[in-house]
Amino acid sequence: MQVRCPRCVRFVEWEGNPWRPFCSERCKLVDLGTWVDEEYKIPGEKSSEEDQKQADAVQLGNEDN
Ligand SMILES: [Zn+2]
Repeated sequence: MQVRCPRCVRFVEWEGNPWRPFCSERCKLVDLGTWVDEEYKIPGEKSSEEDQKQADAVQLGNEDN
């Protein structure tokens, strides 16, 4: 049986999962609010995508020089 992790919405096996209903210790800690925000980046988060684009642009500019 699989359930969706309420934190990252990934499917996770329910049987034998010590972190259920979460997929991992990380998601459990995040949900409890004990995780440090700066250390945890949500994949696909808009702000980090923008940062990555800017970083890529800078690197491309340096290669042109
Ligand atoms: Zn999760």
